[in-house]
Amino acid sequence: MQFGVISIFPEMYQALTDFGVTGRAVDKGLVSVDVWNPRDFTIDKYQTVDDRPYGGGPGMLMKVEPLKYAIEAAKAKLGSQSKVVYLSPQGETLTQDKAQQLAQEASLIFLAGRYEGIDERLIETQIDEEISIGDYVLSGGELASMVVMDSVIRLVPEVLGHDMSAVEDSFVDGLLDCPHYTRPEEHEGRKVPDVLLSGNHEKIRQWRLKQALGRTWEKRPDLLAKRDLSKEEDALLQE
Ligand code: SAM
Repeated sequence: MQFGVISIFPEMYQALTDFGVTGRAVDKGLVSVDVWNPRDFTIDKYQTVDDRPYGGGPGMLMKVEPLKYAIEAAKAKLGSQSKVVYLSPQGETLTQDKAQQLAQEASLIFLAGRYEGIDERLIETQIDEEISIGDYVLSGGELASMVVMDSVIRLVPEVLGHDMSAVEDSFVDGLLDCPHYTRPEEHEGRKVPDVLLSGNHEKIRQWRLKQALGRTWEKRPDLLAKRDLSKEEDALLQE
């Protein structure tokens, strides 16, 4: 999968491309991340990408032209069909379903805003979707775009070592993940649940499902309200 990013801070993306699961995905060639800096598409000697808003008010806005030319350059490399996503607190909130939907695309271009945001005409003419990572305001779209990209990269085939890793994560099946334990078997008097040491795969599956249902009911009842329960899940919840 190919990612393009439009940002005036290209170095920030090393946090995504140089570390952990996402870094390995880049190293293995499973995903690519190219960044276009709008400053490279300016025509004045100060490489100006921002200007004062019409009508007055505090702060600056990102200008249309450098962003438009940067998007065109990204499309020239990644393909004109590439969806352009603007990270914005006004966008659709990112969910696991949304990440799964985005992971079906062959390429995506993310536009990271700065200052007070971008000129509305760019949203009207160049942006296919706006995505928010939550109801709060960041100072730039870079971190937000990396959050979205990380959630999508995990879903790209072969990125996660174990085939089932992403399938068992929270939200994937509408439930929170079950608790997990590793060595030692006992820590400060707290033991790993016996069933996990039993070697009985069916019992372990049932225990995990029951735990996932229980903690979803405790911590996020809203998720259960949105989801139909299977007969087995219903029975486990009644126990
Ligand atoms: N004036 C804008 C508003 O209230 O809608 C906020 C601008 S914010 C200071 C600068 C940039 O940060 C935005 O253009 C956007 O790219 C990014 N940003 C801020 N909060 C975000 C969020 N919750 N999700 C995604 N991007 C966000």
